Parts: sequence; structure tokens; C-alpha cells
Amino acid sequence: MASKAHAALAALRADLAGEVFAPGDPGYDGARVVFNAMADPHPAVIARCAGVTDVVRAVRFARDLDLHIAVRGGGQGLAGAVVDGALVVDLRRMHEVTVDPAAEAVRIGGGTTMSLLDRATRPHGLVAAVGGTPGTGVAGFVLGGAPGWLDRAFGPAVDGLIGVELVTADAERVHANADENPELFWALHGGGGNFGVATALTLELHELPRFAVALVRYRPECGPAAVRAFREVIDTGPDEVGGAALCLSGQPTPVCGALLTYAGGEEELRGLAEPLMRLPHETQSCGTGALGLLYPPGGMRAHCSAQCLAGLPDAAVDAFLARAAQLPAPGSSRLMLLPLGGAVASAAADHPLPYRRAPWIVHPFACWADPSGDGQALTWVREADAGMDPWSTGAVCLDLIGDEGPERVRDGLGAGNLLRLEKVKRRWDPDNVFRFNHNIEPV
Ligand SMILES: Cc1cc2nc3c(=O)[nH]c(=O)nc-3n(C[C@H](O)[C@H](O)[C@H](O)COP(=O)(O)OP(=O)(O)OC[C@H]3O[C@@H](n4cnc5c(N)ncnc54)[C@H](O)[C@@H]3O)c2cc1C
Repeated sequence: MASKAHAALAALRADLAGEVFAPGDPGYDGARVVFNAMADPHPAVIARCAGVTDVVRAVRFARDLDLHIAVRGGGQGLAGAVVDGALVVDLRRMHEVTVDPAAEAVRIGGGTTMSLLDRATRPHGLVAAVGGTPGTGVAGFVLGGAPGWLDRAFGPAVDGLIGVELVTADAERVHANADENPELFWALHGGGGNFGVATALTLELHELPRFAVALVRYRPECGPAAVRAFREVIDTGPDEVGGAALCLSGQPTPVCGALLTYAGGEEELRGLAEPLMRLPHETQSCGTGALGLLYPPGGMRAHCSAQCLAGLPDAAVDAFLARAAQLPAPGSSRLMLLPLGGAVASAAADHPLPYRRAPWIVHPFACWADPSGDGQALTWVREADAGMDPWSTGAVCLDLIGDEGPERVRDGLGAGNLLRLEKVKRRWDPDNVFRFNHNIEPV
């Protein structure tokens, strides 16, 4: 067996246009690093694929050696894209972006990050309704049904999915779209990396000639008024307004903030943000800011969770702020309230994304450097989540959580969708080769 594995690895090294890293190789340690420093994975082999032929070759290699397959895009997932003992299909080199301005569509490679997508589409006055940070992988984000900053205006990015090019567990190349493999296409709207390696995605683009961001920071004692004012702006404002009410860890006390994103001009946003700016605040800015700045840098320890809320009455605001007052410090932790509604709720789609019916999501995100802070951070995330239980819809957005067990996967995909998803899984990955994700088991 060992000699078979050695021969197969030698053949993989020879065949791949990209690079292969095995333990002991120069570059192996660098290639296994992901965003979350709590993860210290030692995969069997990392295949950094240069194109779809490499992906087919890497999947065949894994199947021949009975290895499970992990898929790495941007490396920001908290459910494991680089895993002990697995074959990692590393897509970072597959980041080509082709914009079709006339069709208002873009085709991206499976390893494309948000910054590359944005850089390619913005000159055309077009955007995909994505989010995350500049380094977030687009495919992981979209296929996991993640919510982004423009969702209230355009709907979640996954609603704009036109087609997916996939390499399956049998190393077959298939297309999934409304006409070809429609059941697989449906499952890919939230089912993430369960069905194969997405080597390319085609996404709908939206015209966005102007985009503005306002950020107001408050002292903690102003939190109750600030969060209530944010809620009012969202409740009474147009669908083009989104953002987050957030509390960030700071020394000596946490900082509260209101972030407004707006699919429109700066002047209009200033008007909409007026109830927030009227409150006593420490700093304010309004312009075409970079949202990535709100996120912590990679290389820190991270843990997060999320909970969908049926509403945000005053008691829920108070519970949110009580947890915010206990934000772990030092570090870059944050507790966020993300508004949904608008085009998220109004879409007629029947995708396996039950979170879309909730008006709010609470999202604790702990980020710290010192391993001795693990206990405090993990407890805080768990308690911040549980503290909002009285208002929970029971649904969860899976892209915002790590591995929280099969019940949470069911909550994220919808109990009513699970059997249908399990059947799709059985058709395309009966051996559950793609299991390092929010896993759907084949029936
Ligand atoms: C700093 C930070 C900011 C974030 N911001 C947001 C946000 O604003 N909104 C939000 O909803 N989420 C956000 N997230 C969560 C993030 O969007 C998801 O975890 C997303 O899945 C990460 O994708 P990735 O490719 O970067 O991660 P990876 O860890 O590389 O991949 C995550 C999983 O996605 C699957 N996957 C990735 N690429 C492919 C592919 N091409 N084919 C098949 N499967 C694939 C795999 O199953 C993999 O395990 C954030 C996370 C971090 C760490």
C-alpha cells in the first residue's frame, strides 16, 4: 500500500500543471495555513491545481488511495477546508474572472476571491451581491448561501447563481444550471461543497453606479440608543440600505458602532443616517469606504456562531448589548446584528436557505491571539448565541458558523429540504468523499 501511495504521489507530481505539497516538502507548511490560527491541519497531500484537468487528476488520485477530499478556496471557512489526512484540492490558482457586461454576468474560477471579483466588475459599474472580506473565496461564500452587504437590495449572492461547473466524486466534469442537472443546481444553492469541486461559477451582476458606506462609533453607554436608532433606519429605510449594528472589543471597554451600506449616493446616505449621527458619538465617516477593514486580519485564532432572529424588540436589543459588554479582550472580537428583509425575504426561490425568512441575524465573532484565551472566547461565543434564544427562529446561516454538529446543519438547510438534499448527495457523492463541510450524509 505504501509503495502504491508513493507511486501515485510521484505520478501526481509529474502530471499536475500546478504544485503538489506532501509532508516534508518545502512549501507544505505554508500551503496548509488557513485564516483561523486555531486550525493546525496536516493533510496527506495538497494539490494546488492550475486548472480543471488538475482537479480531475487530484480527485482521481484521492479516490484511488481512498482519501477524503477537502476543498480550499479562500481559506476563510470555519468548517474545515484543510484537514488532517485528506487530499486538499487547493483552488487558489484558479482565479480567472471573465465579465460579460452585455449579459450582466461574470464567470469566475473556483478559487477567485472577493477582491479579484470586485476589481474585474467595478469598472463596468456592475457588482455581484457578495460580502465577506477581500480574501473570502467567492465559491465558498456563494454556494454556502452567505449573506452579504447588498442583499437587501439585490438578494443573496446565491440567488444570482446562473451555473456551476463541477468535478464530482467520480472525477466527472458536469454542469449544473436551470436546464442541466437542475436538482443538483437546486442543492448547490446552500449545500456548499457537498457535491463536488466547483471549478467555475457563473453569477448574475447588478448595476451599481454608486455605493456608499457610513460608520458611526459610540461610547458603550450610548449602545442602547444607537442599536435602536439603527433598527429604526433599517425598518423605515429603503431596501437599498443594509449594514450592521456592531460592538467591537476595545480597551478598556467595548466600542459600539452602526455601519450603514447603501446602494446609492453618499448624500442620500447622509440623510438616511441622520438619526444615527444625531446621537452623541465619538467618530463618524461617510463615503465609499472599504468594508474589509471591519474584519480582523488572518493569522489570529477565531470562532463564531450565528442565530436567526424573528424580530428585534427592545428586550432583544438589551440582551445583545449585555453580551456585547462581555466581549473577550484583548483581540478583535465583535458582536453583530445583521439586518435581512428586503430582497432577501421577497425572492420567490425555494432554495434550501431557511434563514432568508428571518429579519435579523445575530453573529458573535471572537478573534484573539493567545491560546490561553481559548476558553474565554469559546464560552463567550456560545453564551452570546444562547442569550438570543428567546427570539430565535431556529434557522441558522451555515456560512456564519463552524462545525456545530448535524442538528445545526439541519437548521441551516431546513428539515423539510434535508431528504431531498440527501438524495442529491447520494446521486453525486454516495461515499461522502466531500465531507469536510456542513455535511449532508447520503441516504
Ligand atoms: C474574516 C471573515 C469574514 C467573513 N465575512 C462573511 C460575511 O460577510 N458574510 C458571510 O456570510 N460569511 C462571511 N464569512 C464566512 C465565509 O464567507 C464562509 O466561511 C465561506 O465559506 C468562506 O469561503 P472560503 O472559500 O474563503 O473558505 P474555505 O475555507 O476555503 O472554504 C470553505 C468551504 O467552502 C467550500 N468551498 C470553497 N470553495 C469551494 C469550491 N470552489 N468548490 C466546492 N466547495 C468549495 C468547502 O466545503 C470548504 O470547506 C467570513 C469569514 C471570515 C473568516
